[in-house]
Amino acid sequence: MSFLFPALAAGEDRPALRFGARSLTYGELRSSAASLAARLEGARRVAVWATPTPETAVAVVAALLAGVPAVPLNPRTGERELTHIVTDSAPTLVLAAPGDVLPGPLKAVTRLDVTLQGELAGSLPPEPQDPEAAALIVYTSGTTGPPKGAVLPRRAIAASLDALADAWVWTSDDVLVHALPLFHVHGLILGVLGPLRRGGSVRHLGAFTTGGVARELASGGTMLFGVPTMYHRIAEALSADGDLAKALAGARLLVSGSAALPVHDHERIAAATGRRVIERYGMTETLMLSSVRVDGEQRAGSVGVPLRGVELRLVEEDGSEIAAYDGETVGEIQVRGPNLFTGYLNRPDATAAAFDGTWFRTGDMAVRDADGSVRIVGRKATDLIKSGGYKIGAGEIENALLDHPGVREAAVTGEPDPDLGERIVAWIVPADPQAPPSADELAGHVAAQLAPHKRPRGVRYLDALPRNDMGKIMKRALRG
Ligand code: ATP
Ligand code: MG
Repeated sequence: MSFLFPALAAGEDRPALRFGARSLTYGELRSSAASLAARLEGARRVAVWATPTPETAVAVVAALLAGVPAVPLNPRTGERELTHIVTDSAPTLVLAAPGDVLPGPLKAVTRLDVTLQGELAGSLPPEPQDPEAAALIVYTSGTTGPPKGAVLPRRAIAASLDALADAWVWTSDDVLVHALPLFHVHGLILGVLGPLRRGGSVRHLGAFTTGGVARELASGGTMLFGVPTMYHRIAEALSADGDLAKALAGARLLVSGSAALPVHDHERIAAATGRRVIERYGMTETLMLSSVRVDGEQRAGSVGVPLRGVELRLVEEDGSEIAAYDGETVGEIQVRGPNLFTGYLNRPDATAAAFDGTWFRTGDMAVRDADGSVRIVGRKATDLIKSGGYKIGAGEIENALLDHPGVREAAVTGEPDPDLGERIVAWIVPADPQAPPSADELAGHVAAQLAPHKRPRGVRYLDALPRNDMGKIMKRALRG
């Protein structure tokens, strides 16, 4: 591995990026990025105002060509979090599209506008060769605490994208339909750098709509990357939308990640389209860790097998490794491989705490099935409820609740209980707010589906669950 973008030098007229009505060929991307890269010379670190536009893609590619670490910023972040990220990452420049208005925390940073007309057609700066040099600094989603800057070297990006290509048979013929934000690993590294590394193309919808997905998949799109909230909306829309069902049925690959895909949504999509959504699992710090393979067994609730090059083990609380693939023994996922970050920016303490020797502690709990595939139970910090001597994963209770016709959304947490240690509490968005299912009804439903000790002891009704930009449920907001 020396270059991130072997395809950038070839295929002048091949489509590379399309965002709404604006598109760039590989030739246009190359000249825009090369021109900008020349202007980045001497910069120490750049922030990128990561709107879903071709300017963001050009800015990131230019920074990678120039060998200047880039920090993608979420344009919708509140002042407080943005101040934290800007102070922490201390960029010397901020790259933005010409019309973008940058908020207060970025006023003190020198701004450079990204333009799409490059004057350097034909020439491409040599890509930096050092595989360990920081390429991107991506902040974690902030689901469990303030976001941390994960320093990602070129080596990790290349290794992870190539491992996904291996699992998904991802080629230059693929046209990705994309509707995710561009400031996290999923939308930026997988969704933009992935196709560019393969020599394929991206069509970004700007904002997710089921109509947009149907249109793009029906007109040449081969793959869709989404988060579970998108697949939920797809599942809801399918019964009334034959075009959507047909478009999904014709896609080569439907991929979900960033959070657990509820079994109920997976099954509804499979029933209506004949296609199973493939789940992959990863983190900002580790990039991608496992995926269902296109040639492997595809079943609901599984995040597949470790990707090529990834070593993955499950570890008990006492530090011992779980050897059994029994589908039952829960342990923390620990990983090693060329896909890992080099550390958290400015946080040697957090970096040290994240490793068990050479193994990275993901903080995610899982079991392994007989074929080696991984099923995630939930996060150690928020999803493992210790109640009445049992260790219970929130995820399977959420799946059982979502299977009840009166439940639209569900989240499960543990609350201190004098008797049980912790009691299981269900947070429910009812399908019909006028007639929510009763707490007894839901407890009985879970007890019948799973086991009596897994039934919720309390039910709280909400209009919506607190979610972040990736649609992840913010359980720390539920707990107050
Ligand atoms: P923070 O680390 O700031 O609290 P975060 O962990 O949500 O936020 P990310 O790095 O974006 O930040 O997300 C990684 C986490 O997302 C994983 O540790 C895991 O808990 C969850 N995740 C990702 N993919 C899946 C999946 N397919 N199924 C279940 N969980 C997933
Ligand atoms: Mg995390």
